[in-house]
Formats: sequence, C-alpha cells, structure tokens
Amino acid sequence: MQELIMPKLKREESQRPQLNKVDKGIQWIELNRGCKRGCAFCYADPNYKVFDVPEITNNKVMIIGEGFLYDPKIKEKIIELGQKKVNGKVVYYGLNQGIDFRLLDKQIAELLCKNRFGILNSKYNWQKGMKFAWDGGSNHEQLTKETIDLLISVGYKRNQIQVFVLTLWKIPYEVCLYKLRKLRGWKVKIDDCTWNTNKETAYKKAIYDQWDYPYWKAHEYYYFRAISRKRNQLVIFNGHDPELKTGGLRKNDYTLQK
Ligand code: SF4
Repeated sequence: MQELIMPKLKREESQRPQLNKVDKGIQWIELNRGCKRGCAFCYADPNYKVFDVPEITNNKVMIIGEGFLYDPKIKEKIIELGQKKVNGKVVYYGLNQGIDFRLLDKQIAELLCKNRFGILNSKYNWQKGMKFAWDGGSNHEQLTKETIDLLISVGYKRNQIQVFVLTLWKIPYEVCLYKLRKLRGWKVKIDDCTWNTNKETAYKKAIYDQWDYPYWKAHEYYYFRAISRKRNQLVIFNGHDPELKTGGLRKNDYTLQK
C-alpha cells in the first residue's frame, strides 16, 4: 500500500546463520530473510538475503522469512522442495509468514498448491490454505478478493485461507472492522496481528487497565479481538457457533458488532 511506504528505517542487520533445526516434531528452515518492501510499521530486516535449500529431514517443514516471493529463484526452490521425500513419503510445507499478494501470480499459486505449500497450524497439522496480509485500507480490497479467488482456483480451501489484518497501528479501528466484515463475507479467516506487541500482551493490557498503545483504544482492541475470534469460528464451522451453549460471545453480541 503506497501511503504506508516510507523511507526504510534503519534496522539492525541480523548476522545469525541460516535457521535449520527440528523442534516440536517439525523442521524449521529459512530460505530467505527480511523483506525489500520497507513498510513503515514493519520490523523485517531490509537487508534481504536468500539461502540455499537445506537438507530436508522431516515430513513437516515450517519455512520462516517474510520475503518468500522476493527470491528470484523461488519457483525453482518450490519445485525442488516439492520433489523431496523423507522415509519414502512426501513433505508438507507451512509458510509461517505467508506470501506477499502483490508478488503472487497464477503460475506461482499453482506451484505452491501442487507442491504442498500451505499452513502448519498451532498444533502443527498441515492445512491446504495460505496466509497473506491485507495491511492497508480499501485500496487493497480488490487485490485481496482477487488473491482469495486465485488461491481457490488453484486448489486451496476457502475456509483455510487466512488473512492478516494489522491492528493497533495507524489503520483506524473502523477501517479494520470494515476489512473484517469483508473477510467474513468472503468466508475466509482473519489473523488480527498486532503492531509492536503480541496478542496476549495487548489483551492483558486492555483488561487490566494498562493500555499504552497510541493509535487504538483499549475497548477497540478488546472488541476487535473478540469479533475476529468469533468470526473465525463461524468460518470454520460453516456459520454455526460452537460456543452458543458454552458461554462464548453470544449470537446477539455478535450481531450487534456487525
Ligand atoms: S514483510 Fe510485509 S509488512 Fe514487512 S516490509 Fe515486507 S511486505 Fe511490508
């Protein structure tokens, strides 16, 4: 989003070696590090670098790194990784930070889906979905919709597509609510990511009256978190609310927030 692009902030260049470790039963690797885009709110290392494909030793691999599609050899790497086998079985890949929808085209989308690039969820189960961010305002509404349609057209599941929406930054609460409604209408999930903190910390500060974030009010974040969570449940459970009988946000509360 153009108005969010500012001169690149001076950030520390990370000199640590390429990540390649097995933890919690999956292999974590880096194929690239940082991002060239330089969005004003983002702390990604602007000194973008790429790595060779490491040895793959596990059937589930989480790939970290923000600028996945900036790699000039990314198509070759997707194909190479897709051909890997461990113990005679294919490998499933999760893209932890998702993809940049401005760099996605039909060929790349097809390669990603065909070679089992998707989401490894919080329980490290693989899902045939994809993550990408709608960080800006309504000027990216059309591209968001087109990206969802493209992902579905190549084989991804609608209710496994997850769209990051940045909260607590200068994109106002009302604009984020609008995006949330659009995502609900398109029946995809939202990941309400937080600027400069994490969800748990922001939620606790909202509850315990310790709010010190400059751009959003505590109650705005509190409601946005609750509605995002509820709408994801409605996407996952095909419009049914699994908490109606267990004390979650009630249907009337949900309706009031529309
Ligand atoms: S990682 Fe995403 S938010 Fe960060 S600079 Fe790159 S495009 Fe912008």
